[in-house]
Amino acid sequence: MNDAPLDMRMDREQRRTAADIINEEDERELTRILREYGEEKFAGAIARRIVAKRASKPVETTGELVEIIEESIPRKAKLKGGHPAKRTFQALRIALNSELDEISQAVESLAGCLNPGGRFAVITFHSLEDRIVKDGFRTLEKPCTCPPDFPVCVCGKKSMGHVVTRKPILPEEEEIALNPRAKSAKLRVFERA
Ligand SMILES: [Zn+2]
Repeated sequence: MNDAPLDMRMDREQRRTAADIINEEDERELTRILREYGEEKFAGAIARRIVAKRASKPVETTGELVEIIEESIPRKAKLKGGHPAKRTFQALRIALNSELDEISQAVESLAGCLNPGGRFAVITFHSLEDRIVKDGFRTLEKPCTCPPDFPVCVCGKKSMGHVVTRKPILPEEEEIALNPRAKSAKLRVFERA
């Protein structure tokens, strides 16, 4: 309802904001996000107008985005289905959250691709992402969901291997001096049994 920065993160530590999606994704990907996550019929028209507008100046506020959406949707279609911007904002929220889901899905499926003794390593740059990797690795190592007082495991979930890095590996000062962006990097390694 009010004009505000285009952010929409669930967590301050999350890297991407809604503005990053709006200003960085290409027209095709924007269309996909709006159509798939928002079921927006005019996804193509909205994406096209976003790309045209941001060519002169990035889209930075919710008010600017609402204006673009209102200009993209035919007058008649605006009369039904609630606020015309509702579906786009829903799509952005889902897109931002699904990026985090994708990390945890990737951790799980990558472990399944390894040969016994094979390792995979993940570098993240934000603590929210690192937490997802850390939790994912822990679940791969100890997937059992039985209550702790059960004498034997009945859930049947088998360990995939072990976490090689109890604590994440961080860049040395020398590396940070050479590459300041490495500062927030965290590396974790998992080994398949
Ligand atoms: Zn169990």
